[in-house]
Amino acid sequence: MACWTSWRRACAPTKSAPTSAEPGASALGEFELIRHYFAAASCARAGEGVVLGIGDDCALLELAAGEQLAVSTDTLVEGVHFPAAAEPFSLGQRALGVSLSDLAAMGAAPIGFTLALTLPRAEPAWLEAFARGLDQMARQCSARLIGGDTTRGPLSLTLTVCGRVPAGQALTRAGAQAGDLLCVGGCLGEGAGALELVLGRRQAKAQVAEALLPRYWAPQPQLALGQALRGKATAALDISDGLLADCGHIATASGVALLVEQARLPLSAALLDLLGEEGARRCALGGGDDYLLAFTLPAEHLHGLQAAGWPLQVIGRVEAGAGVRLLDAQGRALAPPARGYQHFGAAGV
Ligand code: ADP
Ligand code: MG
Repeated sequence: MACWTSWRRACAPTKSAPTSAEPGASALGEFELIRHYFAAASCARAGEGVVLGIGDDCALLELAAGEQLAVSTDTLVEGVHFPAAAEPFSLGQRALGVSLSDLAAMGAAPIGFTLALTLPRAEPAWLEAFARGLDQMARQCSARLIGGDTTRGPLSLTLTVCGRVPAGQALTRAGAQAGDLLCVGGCLGEGAGALELVLGRRQAKAQVAEALLPRYWAPQPQLALGQALRGKATAALDISDGLLADCGHIATASGVALLVEQARLPLSAALLDLLGEEGARRCALGGGDDYLLAFTLPAEHLHGLQAAGWPLQVIGRVEAGAGVRLLDAQGRALAPPARGYQHFGAAGV
C-alpha cells in the first residue's frame, strides 16, 4: 500500500551512501525501492506456476490439474526472532529458509512467496544486501518473489510461501500410527547451538563456528526430503520450536504417543564440541531453530529411503496413547528438559 508522506520522511539521506547503481537514498520512494531491490531481483522473474508476478494488485498463480496449493505465513520481528542489527544478507537467507521449511514439512514444492517488509528507514546498503540474501535462498529453492508490501516501522518481515502438492498427498501432522518409526532428517540442536554464538553467549573455535553458524543464518529447508516422503511418511512437520514440543504436535494431531529414545538422538561433532554431551542433548530436545523434518514412518519404508541416501535417523517410535515420552537406553522414562519456545505460554514472554 502506498504511503508517500511517511516514506519521504523515511528516505532521508543515510550514512551509507548509495553506489552509482543504486537510486539516491534521498530520492528513494516506496515504488523505486520495490522496483530496484525486489522487482529487479532475479528471483522475481516469471517462472513455472507464476502467471503474473510483482507489479499488479495480485499475483496470479497456476496449478496443474490434480494439484493443491500449500500456503504458509511466518513473521520475523527484530529482537524477537533475530538479534537487533543482524547482518542483512544473512537475514534475507534465514527469513526465506525458515518460511520454505513449512512447505518442506508438507511435502510441497515451492512456487512463489510474498514479502511484507516493515523497515525503520530505507537504507540502500541494507536493502541491497538483504535482497541478495533473499535472492540466493530463493534461487536455491526454486521459489519466486511474486509480491509483497513495504511499510515503515520497527523492522519486521512477513513471508507467505506458496507451493504445489499432488492432491491428497500433502504430509500433515495427523496420521501417525502405532507401530510407526519416529525419524528426523539430520543432526539435531545445531540451530539452537549456533544461536548461543549469535547472541555472544559462547565462543567457539573457528572450525566449530563455521560448521554451526550457517545452521542459524541459512537454514536449508528439506524440500527434496519432504517430497520423497509423500506417500510414505504418515505424519510430518519441521522442527522449529524444539523436538519434544514439536513431537507433541504430531502426538496430539494424530491421537498417539511418541516415544523418543535419548541415546538415538543424532548430535554433530561441532555441537558436541561447543556444548558437551548434556548441553548438546538439551539443544537437540528443547532448542528451536532446527528446521529439519520430524516424521513418522511405517518400518517397511525405512530401508528404501536409507538406500536412496536420504539423511534420515530413527529416534523413536509411535505407540497407542497420548503425549511424548523421553526414554533412556533401558527404556525407562526420563524427565524432559525445558520446553520449546512459546510466545504467549508459560515458557514464553
Ligand atoms: P497495492 O497498493 O495495490 O497493495 P503496493 O503499492 O503495495 O500495491 O505494491 C505494488 C506492487 O509491488 C504489488 O505488486 C506488490 O505485491 C509489490 N510489492 C510491494 N512491496 C513489495 C516487496 N517488499 N517485495 C516484493 N514485492 C512488493
Ligand atoms: Mg492494489
